[in-house]
Amino acid sequence: MAPESYKRAERLSPESSGDLKEIPMLLEKIDKYEIFRPKCDSTKEVLHCIATFDADISPVLPYLNAELGGWDYDQRNQVLLLKLSAGKWITLHPHQIAIRGARDIEEAEALLKWIQGQINDIYERREQIEPRYTSQAGLKVMEILKLLPMTNCKACGYPTCMAYAAALREGETRLQDCPPLWEEKFKEKREKLQAYLESFGWRALDAA
Ligand code: SF4
Repeated sequence: MAPESYKRAERLSPESSGDLKEIPMLLEKIDKYEIFRPKCDSTKEVLHCIATFDADISPVLPYLNAELGGWDYDQRNQVLLLKLSAGKWITLHPHQIAIRGARDIEEAEALLKWIQGQINDIYERREQIEPRYTSQAGLKVMEILKLLPMTNCKACGYPTCMAYAAALREGETRLQDCPPLWEEKFKEKREKLQAYLESFGWRALDAA
């Protein structure tokens, strides 16, 4: 059984090889991380993780937002929220990574390694990436609704087009789940909706 709190003082390094050592990394070392059960979570079924480091990862945040489909990017405060699945999030700050909702210690450590790898890989490739400053949280349910067939036919499994629009904004459903939208008469609306979603970096939650 996982302990209530699990601390590591040693420094995490990415898997290293002779070649990797020669590549400059933005986040070479994680100085400290702690994995713990949230006291306020009555279910006690998930673990959280906080990792801190001296490196400043803020320069890579808009590139991570573009590549990984950030849920919310606060450019002013340099905070990027990635939703991996329902209840499983990673929040990136200039000197901190916070992971919410890991299944166990192994998953928390794997997620930490994964995001450290993404930070370094995307930083390395940043000149080939168009940074993104918008994010999915900026999508408006009413704007999505205007571009739906608005028949409330329930074929998507939601009781109304409004309910579907709200779920779509969250990434909990997909455009394919609204069959009428794919009819020829709604082609223009569908294309506008696709462009609107893409402009905010929309992605489905299970596409992580
Ligand atoms: S299937 Fe499409 S048109 Fe029908 S209720 Fe759902 S969102 Fe509305």
